[in-house]
Amino acid sequence: MKRLSVIGSTGSVGRNVLRVVRQFPERFSVVALAAGRNVGLLAEQVTRFSPEVAVVLDGDLASRLKEMVMGARRLEILHGLDGYRVAATLSSADLVVSAIAGSAGLLPTMAATEAGKPVALANKESLVMAGELVMGTAREKGASIIPVDSEHSAIFQSLAGHRRQDLKQIILTASGGPFLDKSPEDIDKVTPEMALCHPTWKMGPKITIDSATLMNKGLEVIEAKWLFGVPEELIQVVIHRESVVHSMVVYQDGSVIAQLGLPDMRAPIAYALSYPERLPLGLPPPDFVDMGSLTFRNPDPGKFPCLALAIEACRTGKTMPAVLIAANEVAVDAFLHQRIRLRRIWEVVHRVMTRHKPVSEPGLSDILEAAAWARLTAEGCV
Ligand code: MG
Repeated sequence: MKRLSVIGSTGSVGRNVLRVVRQFPERFSVVALAAGRNVGLLAEQVTRFSPEVAVVLDGDLASRLKEMVMGARRLEILHGLDGYRVAATLSSADLVVSAIAGSAGLLPTMAATEAGKPVALANKESLVMAGELVMGTAREKGASIIPVDSEHSAIFQSLAGHRRQDLKQIILTASGGPFLDKSPEDIDKVTPEMALCHPTWKMGPKITIDSATLMNKGLEVIEAKWLFGVPEELIQVVIHRESVVHSMVVYQDGSVIAQLGLPDMRAPIAYALSYPERLPLGLPPPDFVDMGSLTFRNPDPGKFPCLALAIEACRTGKTMPAVLIAANEVAVDAFLHQRIRLRRIWEVVHRVMTRHKPVSEPGLSDILEAAAWARLTAEGCV
């Protein structure tokens, strides 16, 4: 029985993690559930999974949760940063699922790796903002990090059983989002509702917008760089509309190993939970005959400037990727609240990055400070 601490249990990844747990009750149990503001859903999850610890964002929400789950036995309700830290380091947890959306996921991920806990990592921001710190701490404490992001899970799977020194290149596939074939003028008229319709993957609102601008793919390049220790110039992004090839690895002899499957988050989640075993999820394989063809092409940099911006932040390194993350969060939120247009997201992030003076060899506090500065500066730009 593997005991899980699920940080970010009410989000899109968290809910799918719990679907897998429900499907395999003899394999997994839940010892901690941490959410943000969605107390209603968290209360339902607490009733169903009986964790030892439940965490919410603040004291008011904690009181509301307490009323809603009256009678839950041996449940400790916590809130705020200390609460997330407890959930991420709980002694009874065998695996921590880090699935909070956005930069808020950094501290719980750091706490879990510092405690030497194996982490199933869905929160890419942790690695984008503090890849060197997170991976360094994980190595030092012997904590494994298993990717949940579908592309990185595919790369992880394609690397299994091969010698790392034979690796030549990583090919990261991108669906291209809902506006791949729209003109720049049409993209300018996009509303949040239109942007939230992703063609192949069902995900939360923030990451769906990041997919529409290809910022998500840029963040995934940085994530892959840290996870697999590969410089960004060896990571190629290819548009693959069908989202069936989840990513590929090229070896020195020109051979390519890819991982394929239907776009369903339960597959990479279940793999991270049960690694190195594979669970009988009941998901069908792709029907290749029915599909007929798989297509690949280069992303259009003029239409999706956020991709290049993320790669620029990656090359600069230091505190720049944290600034990219924070400025983008503010800009995406402004778009979702109809304060700016979709194409302005790039402009806001670009301006904030131009003004930032990167700090070399940053510690956690430098990274958090740079992100806070970027958030304020981005607000000003919006
Ligand atoms: Mg992904």
